[in-house]
Amino acid sequence: MSQFESFPDPIPDPIFGITQLFSEESREEKINLSIGAYVDETGRVPILNVIKQAEQELIESETTKAYFPLTGDRLFNQKMGEMMFGTLPPNAFTLSTPGGTGALFLAMETLVRHMTGTIHFSNPTWANHKQIAKRCGLEIGHYPYLKKDRSGVDFDEMMRAIGEIPPGEAICLQVSCHNPTGYDLTPPQWDQVLDLVVQKGLIPLFDYAYQGFASECQTDNYPLRAYAERGQIGFVAYSCSKNFSLYGERTGALAVLTQSPEEERKVQGVLKSLVRTSYSNQPIHGTKLVAEILNSSDLTAIWHTQLSQMKERLEAMTKELSSGLNLPHLAEAHGFFTLLPISLDQVEKLRRDHAIYMPDNGRIALSALNPSNIHQVIDALKGVL
Ligand code: PMP
Repeated sequence: MSQFESFPDPIPDPIFGITQLFSEESREEKINLSIGAYVDETGRVPILNVIKQAEQELIESETTKAYFPLTGDRLFNQKMGEMMFGTLPPNAFTLSTPGGTGALFLAMETLVRHMTGTIHFSNPTWANHKQIAKRCGLEIGHYPYLKKDRSGVDFDEMMRAIGEIPPGEAICLQVSCHNPTGYDLTPPQWDQVLDLVVQKGLIPLFDYAYQGFASECQTDNYPLRAYAERGQIGFVAYSCSKNFSLYGERTGALAVLTQSPEEERKVQGVLKSLVRTSYSNQPIHGTKLVAEILNSSDLTAIWHTQLSQMKERLEAMTKELSSGLNLPHLAEAHGFFTLLPISLDQVEKLRRDHAIYMPDNGRIALSALNPSNIHQVIDALKGVL
């Protein structure tokens, strides 16, 4: 027996736990609706053709596998700034990060070490948000987000709760395709939230993991453009995992909005030290691919087409599910997920009686639906809802 003996029991991950149960299921008609990545109609996480093309070009042009500087790749950072804000605001800088999670980690470490001990998340939110915050040592608060009947955003309650957050604390705001609900704010609602955030002196950490899946890239970044215009400080964690289908390449960015070059110099120093002492350098492959695509108007055009195709497939499945279940509000969900109005008993009944698997909270992955299984899912759901 050693010191390891006294370690706590592992807490099972809710999503991976379902995947395990699913793999043990022997019924042939089984369907897994708990997938976290976009899968195509054949159930595969695709490599976009544009990525293959960029990889081919990279193989021919790449002359070194040297480390990037601590801030990552200059070209990638510039392009990320443009993706997030249209044009990188003069008071902002970007840094390459290992996926959106890497950016969230750097932002939360910076918050807890230098700015505030508390961060507030929407209820519900992506489960890993709270786990990262907890690991960084941040206290966690919540603001309501979803209506009780799960039919949309409870905006009044959300505003009321944000109004009660003490000044100086941090708030995480998902920019689009809210995970897990799929429901986003409208631009006028964003303006109200951003005004309140500024008025209260809260520090926003925007999480942008699904650009291009709610609408055109330079439309669904409205909240970031609107916030940048307000000239305040804040963080943006950006993920290229979904819109470039680059999950395992760990490609993302962190943007920081400061109020002076002197502030920027200091924040950069903190971030570089965090990078150096945690994972040391940004992974190069995915970063170079995204930079290559966004630096070529031809490749960018192809990428937009392929991104739209993923988006349109998700929209078609969402609409069909909504009309099949006669739940009109479901059609308003954007992105990868929606939360069904379903109880734990009903989730378990679906597993038991229909071999349909989803996490206990009823979050379903819309890309897991396809023309050959959607009717089976709708029929089963109608039987239990
Ligand atoms: N934020 C949200 C809301 C997400 O859903 C995800 C991925 N599921 C991430 C951040 C992190 O993405 P990445 O895989 O790039 O770390």
